[in-house]
Amino acid sequence: KKSLLSEIKVLVVGGPGVGKSALTVRYLTKRYIGEYDHQSENRYKHEAMINGEPVIFEILDTCPKSDKDLLAVDSIQWADGFLLVYSILDKASFDYIQRFRRHVLEIRNIGTSHGKADQQPATASNTIPCVLVGNKADMVHLRQVPTHEGEQLAKEMECYFAEVAAAEQVSSIADAFVELGREVHSARRR
Ligand code: GDP
Ligand code: MG
Repeated sequence: KKSLLSEIKVLVVGGPGVGKSALTVRYLTKRYIGEYDHQSENRYKHEAMINGEPVIFEILDTCPKSDKDLLAVDSIQWADGFLLVYSILDKASFDYIQRFRRHVLEIRNIGTSHGKADQQPATASNTIPCVLVGNKADMVHLRQVPTHEGEQLAKEMECYFAEVAAAEQVSSIADAFVELGREVHSARRR
């Protein structure tokens, strides 16, 4: 019988064109193609080591139709953790992450309002494991989002942050996925 590996469901979140597919494909294949289907969601399974333990990442690379599309409640509830991606070249994509975060908190607070009335809404943010990445860091000359704004948002979310470039890097992108895996692991132990 096959051993039961723990599954970590990751939702890759961000506005259109920030590089969600590029980052995901880079992580899975170590390669950068340059052009990706932007019509559809993609699902992947990938085995990885988290804290010396093998896990299966189940990755859903989302495909919002616009900056207004904050994703369906089911995919948000499906996820164990969020890889939050914006483009450092696109201020609107940074705003998208902030709106998405409030959207998730609202969903979680609605979820906890019946039954666990004594639960502090403030803890909800910490029950959502996430990492924040600012992509397209190879194009700093066109930067719209200063590094300190990314750092500040990550501080508010108490999460890992890095500026990355799917176009150029492999290891820093893998680091973000692994860090998210660790977050999910430690949230499960709480
Ligand atoms: P998605 O809509 O978030 O999935 O974005 P895609 O992965 O389809 O990428 C959108 C566009 O940005 C594509 O043309 C990519 O080639 C480009 N892109 C993705 N990552 C990077 C990056 O790190 N640097 C640069 N310069 N372009 C990137
Ligand atoms: Mg895509």
